[in-house]
Amino acid sequence: MARDYLKKATKTASTDAGDVRDTVQTILDDIEKGGDEAALRYAQKFDQYQGKILLGEEEIAAASVLVSQRLKDDIAFAHDNVRRFAEVQKETMRDVELEVVPGLIAGQKSIPCVAAGCYVPGGRYSHIASAIMTVTTAKVAGCQHIVACSPPRMGEGIAPAIIYAANLCGADSILSMGGVQGVAAMTFGLFGLPKADILVGPGNQFVAEAKRILFGRVGIDMIAGPTDSLILADKTADAEIVATDLVGQAEHGYNSPVWLVTSDQTLAKKVMKLVPGLIAELPEVNRMNAEAAWRDYAEVIVCDDREEMAATSDEYAPEHLTVQAADLPWWLDRLQCYGSLFLGEETTVAFGDKASGTNHVLPTSRSAKYTGGLSVHKYMKIVTWQKSTREGAKPIAEATARIARLEGMEGHARTADIRLKKYFPDEQFD
Ligand code: NAD
Repeated sequence: MARDYLKKATKTASTDAGDVRDTVQTILDDIEKGGDEAALRYAQKFDQYQGKILLGEEEIAAASVLVSQRLKDDIAFAHDNVRRFAEVQKETMRDVELEVVPGLIAGQKSIPCVAAGCYVPGGRYSHIASAIMTVTTAKVAGCQHIVACSPPRMGEGIAPAIIYAANLCGADSILSMGGVQGVAAMTFGLFGLPKADILVGPGNQFVAEAKRILFGRVGIDMIAGPTDSLILADKTADAEIVATDLVGQAEHGYNSPVWLVTSDQTLAKKVMKLVPGLIAELPEVNRMNAEAAWRDYAEVIVCDDREEMAATSDEYAPEHLTVQAADLPWWLDRLQCYGSLFLGEETTVAFGDKASGTNHVLPTSRSAKYTGGLSVHKYMKIVTWQKSTREGAKPIAEATARIARLEGMEGHARTADIRLKKYFPDEQFD
């Protein structure tokens, strides 16, 4: 089997982490020392923003007036789908119990984090859908305080539709602050906010690096790199739809890889011919992003058969994976590494990005090898408990004392001994 790389990518999705790390660390240190004032200085520096930081009812009402009824209806539709899907996910987190030995019961339950910080990116595009994805899921999980944090547009506040969506989906506080300063404000509990227990949401390399540095002190959903997408297509695929879907994802950013993996050389060539024309028809900013992404990061790979296609896809472990090929059940069964899977031409990544109910905060840069995307589970702690009768404690205490002594942990052993002696005074234990 030999893969044929028709379009050779010259770059892969990696940022100059060294530079970014130093910049982000400095900002975090300054804000930790300087508090609200330091965060405000960075908001002024990076976003030329001096307006209100913590939005109240007045700003929320003003934003609502600026959102058309049609968009409100669409936001409500998307919110309803994301909410219902998250509710079904939550049902899978059932509490369980096991009688480990007669009399000793061990259990597991899920407890939501109290305070969630949802980062809603807003530098390049107004990511209304990210507000829906992060805030709704936190709400369904049962977090008690949800902060939605989004950058003000240059010199202005947050886009009105983001404010509207965050409020509708259940944000308790809306913070008009972006980048590292926004992440720091949620983590350190600035502007009177509760300190976040978990930070979620996508963002640029500064946001991702801030989350990476703060992880441990605060939980995070994942470290998101540039968005990536892969399409698996066989000879049954429609070349125009495949090309349109590739371009649709390449517009995310100059470094957003899109990959086509196919068993049909003719389809591959058709798609490669169509893509530049479709990119040229996009509005300017989107065109520039897509052009660079296609030129430097895109890959078109022709494989011998579907097994090789699936293996190639699993190696890339794409954030978004689309299958436009015959026998969809085979693909659903075979594929192992992806953030979200779109089966068949009748669905597409943009549906999941915006409105179909599955979450769009997904693992990038091959992290789908070990994790899925944002779900209610990310906000929940799976904890365990146990209780026992005296009879149930007996075999456990005996084993505990012996194991602990062998480990040299005499103090541990004595916590078992004291119980054995109290509950079974007439018995001898070795
Ligand atoms: P952003 O909100 O992530 O970043 C904007 C902020 O970056 C600004 O507020 C500013 O404070 C900060 N910043 C800009 N330049 C800086 C500098 N030189 N030093 C320090 N801070 C600086 O918005 P964005 O930049 O448009 O990036 C959004 C990202 O989110 C994109 O990469 C996009 O692909 C990604 N995204 C991913 C998903 C997903 O689910 N994977 C969904 C939506 C968006």
